[in-house]
This record gives sequence, C-alpha cells and structure tokens, in this order.
Amino acid sequence: MRNLLFVALLFVALPAQAGQFASIPEDVDFDFERWPYPLHQEVTDRLHELAELYPNLARAHVIGKSRQGRDLVVLEITNFETGPGEEKPALWFDGNIHAVEVTGRQMMWYFAEAALASYGKDPVATRMLDTRTFYVMPIFDADGGEAALTRHPAWPEHKPEEHNGKDLDGDGYITRMRVKDPEGNSYPSWIDERHMLQTRTRDGGRWNFVSTTLEDPGDFEKLAPPENRYRVYTEGQDLTREVTDEREEPNFNRNWSAEWQRHEPGAGPYPFSLPEVRAVAEFTVTHPNIFFTYTIHSGGGARNYIVRPPMSHPFEYMPPEDNDFYTRLGAVWSWLSKGGVMNNNWYAQEVKAGRYGETMHGFSNDWAYMHVGIHSLLPEISGAGRDYDQDGYTTQYEILRWVDEEKDGVYFAPWTPYQHPELGEVEIGGYRGLPQGIDDRLQFECEIHYQYLMEIAGRSPLLRIIDLDAEEVSPGEHRVTAVLQNEGYLSTYVTRKALEIDLDYPILAELRVQGGEVSGPAKVDAGHILGKLAYIRRWGSGADESRKAVSWTVRGDGPMEITVDAWAKRAGRHQRSMTIGSTDGGAQR
Ligand SMILES: [Zn+2]
Repeated sequence: MRNLLFVALLFVALPAQAGQFASIPEDVDFDFERWPYPLHQEVTDRLHELAELYPNLARAHVIGKSRQGRDLVVLEITNFETGPGEEKPALWFDGNIHAVEVTGRQMMWYFAEAALASYGKDPVATRMLDTRTFYVMPIFDADGGEAALTRHPAWPEHKPEEHNGKDLDGDGYITRMRVKDPEGNSYPSWIDERHMLQTRTRDGGRWNFVSTTLEDPGDFEKLAPPENRYRVYTEGQDLTREVTDEREEPNFNRNWSAEWQRHEPGAGPYPFSLPEVRAVAEFTVTHPNIFFTYTIHSGGGARNYIVRPPMSHPFEYMPPEDNDFYTRLGAVWSWLSKGGVMNNNWYAQEVKAGRYGETMHGFSNDWAYMHVGIHSLLPEISGAGRDYDQDGYTTQYEILRWVDEEKDGVYFAPWTPYQHPELGEVEIGGYRGLPQGIDDRLQFECEIHYQYLMEIAGRSPLLRIIDLDAEEVSPGEHRVTAVLQNEGYLSTYVTRKALEIDLDYPILAELRVQGGEVSGPAKVDAGHILGKLAYIRRWGSGADESRKAVSWTVRGDGPMEITVDAWAKRAGRHQRSMTIGSTDGGAQR
C-alpha cells in the first residue's frame, strides 16, 4: 500500500515537472507528410494570414527582398496588449538559410502555428507570449529554397532553365549519372551498393571524405579498387560547365563578418554582400531586444546535433558564464531529443573530418555572439527515414530500407544503364528528391523544437520594478526608491562578450513627475543586474543578487503623480506609478 501510494505520488509529481515545457497543442493543422514542401508564396501568404487571424498576437513584416525580388517575411509574435514587441526580450529564428536545406522552413512555420494556437491554453506559451517576443523567418534564402523545391520536372513550378541538369530518362527527376573511371572519386558502398561514397582525396587543402570504417588504408584500396571507381555527374548536366559543388555558390552562412575569410568557399567578395544576409543583420542590430538567435540547417548526418558558438575555437574561448549557458541548454536539448548532443566544430570530429572541417568562418552564429554579443545556436536536422535498429542514428542504409519498405521506392532511382551522347555508357540513378524531414520524424523534430525554443525564451533576462516607495525626508522633499529585479535567467547584459564589445545595453531608469520636479537627473544608468545563471552558485543556494534599488529626490507640495520607467534593451521595459505628497500617503499602482 505504501509503495502504491509512492507510485501514485510519483505520477502526480511527473506532470508538474514536465509542465516546465510548453505542451504540444493538439489543434494545429499541419501537414507533416507533405513533400515537396510548400513554395515561398504559400508560406508567405500563410504568415500574412496568421497576422490577420491573430491581430493581437502576430504581425508580418517584410524586411527586405531576395536577389530575385521575393519578400523576406518575418512574423513577429507577442501579446501586443502587454506591450510592444521591442520592449520585451526577443528571440530570432530562421529556417532555410542554406538553399537546399529546406526543412527549417517547415519547422519555423510549425513553431508560429503552434505558438499562436497555444496562447490562452497552455500556461507556458501564454506566459512567453505575454513577456517575450519571437521574430520568426521561415525562409531565409528565398530564391535558393525555391530552386531546391522546384528542382525536379515533376514538381510544381519547375523552370528547366534554372537548373544545371535534365531529366534524360524521363522519370520526372533529375538524379545522378555515374560513369566508370579509375581516376574517379566515388565508389559504391560495400554495405549497400546503391549508395555512392566518395574516396579520400585532398582537394584545395580540404579532406573530401575520410573512411573511418577500416583500420588499414590498404583494405580500402581493396574494397574500392580503381576498377570500381566512378565519376558522378548531375543527370543531364552541361558537360562544358566546370563541375563545382553546389555549396560553393554564394553561401549564406559564410557571408557574415565574424572571422570572415575571402578564401572560404561561398564567402562572397565582402561580409554582408548578399542582400538577404544584410537584411537579417540589419534587422538584428536594429532590434536590440534580441538576446538569442536560432538558425535551422538540415544537412545533418545520421543524427541531429546542435552547433554552438564559437564555430572554430575551443569552448574556453568564451568566458565561463557564457559557456555555462550552452552547457545547460545542451543538457535540456539532450533530454528533449533523447540523447542529442550540442557541440562545436572544434570538437566534432565527424564534422572536422568532413569537407568543411579545416576552415569555417563567417558564420551567422559566430557573428551573433562575437559581433552582437548575444547567444545563438545552429541545429543540423535530419528527419527522414527510420532508425530501425534503435541505436539513435539513422544511417543512409536505414534511409534506403525505409524508401524500399515504407515509400514504395519513390525516393531512389535504381542505377540503370543509359546511352549518353557524349559520355557513352553511363548509369542514371540515385536519390530522387529525398526529403530531409517528413512524416513522424519531422513531427517529432517540430514538436521538440517548439518546446526547446519556448524553454530558451524563458531563459532571457526579464526586468521588473517589484517595489516603488516614497518617504518625505523634509517638508516638500521626497525620496523615491524603485526596486528593480531581473526575474530572468541570463544577466541583463546577456553575455560577457557584450560587455567586452560595448553592446551590453545597461538598465536606464527614468522618473517622471506630474505636479513636482526631480532634483538631479531624472534618467539614471542603473547598470546591470545578474541573472540566476551568473550568481546562483557563487554564494551557495541562498544567493540572490537579482535586485537593485534606484533612488531620486523629488520636490513638490501637493499630490504628485510619479512614474518610474525602467528599460534594459535585452531585458524588457517596465513602468510603475504611484501618487505621493498627499496627506493620506498615496496609492501604488
Ligand atoms: Zn547548412
């Protein structure tokens, strides 16, 4: 009986703990199975529609145009009845920063739908929309995303002239062509021959592919002998055009000023040369309430991970307080994602061994931290296939099995001989518009990201005036004292880096008086107030350094209406008023 009671108590206790996370709304009508994903116009129309459906909670802003003239649309989500968006700590989210990495747009769209549907129903979401602001841009590379989603002839609005490649075999897809070549850098995997791997080559100072499955490099030569090597092309590509990797086109995530390097593929001629990147950078710096940015990629490998800044330095690059924020968020992520990691490229060997391992500069996330002084994360999503062996990784072989068993083979074209006019005997085949996120795996990612981002919103600094008092120190002279509190988790400066680069936005507290006057400055710089992250472990669990008092002297005889207006750009704004100087002592409001 006692055990039963204990179990019963445990079940009662669990929902309270899980209740720390926003709950997943049940009434969001979102199609996780749709592929290819909706195009730019449909997503944009829906963002404008959401702003109309929820006039008190959402506004759509066009913050710029893509190179081809598409609108860059940001949905601002907050409860406007509790104050304007700029006066609350804010989070910036974007999806589809890399052209072919389109899953983030679905996830950000889902976030907007879920947050708005949850207002007034889920206490966590309601509190976050009342006290924080979300700037959500599902589609960053609007042109690149459009090209990726209209790539195949069978897909909507396909424009053949925009693609390097043709559907030679008429199956509706532009896949790959492979042709035997002892000098080629690709070979069929010995686990599943349909899947092509790349040989280990060093190209322009970068490792192309490193086989780590074999101890002895000699074995590798046996398993991928020259007679089993291939050159791989895009199906029907123009052979007079030099073969370049599509990632070396303008790279939206190498064009930021943080450690920008000219030789980085896709870096562009100078930082912010891309109008889309410039628009987002400008929005970020002209909205100093933003304390955190989240940029969703979906070029992930066999398992998702989240990349934290600094991209290419050890963790000690950061002061301990900033580092600690990531340690703690990493633990939350691991819990939500059932064991996912947060790392950076300095340590992530599987990333360092890849093509982009040696130099990675000009990232948006490093820019956010190094040049704006705010926190930032970059998830790399993989949300297709199925983890059949439940080891936490969904490998290419499990994806092929999923294509075979659950998708009628639609996402893979078997390698089939074809007589090419210039290359002669080739085979056409390979992945056929494989989604990076779909079905239940996409739904899982959307839901845990929704919860994770609501959780991070709750980690902002949050400035409040918790007490306002006045005493008459001599006839007609009053001492007014406001007690300010940082009710949040981060300090009001957000990062130590912000202090270092002078972008820390201290608290400004202003006293306004009707019927009297302030002696001395009415507006004072109240400095900063630490958040729990910074102080709670310093003096033991009893520590509380979350408060600060600010005082003014006010002169006047009759009743006076006084208002304290406290604002730290990244911690929010709060006002409080009272009447002083009347015989009955006045009333606080
Ligand atoms: Zn990417």
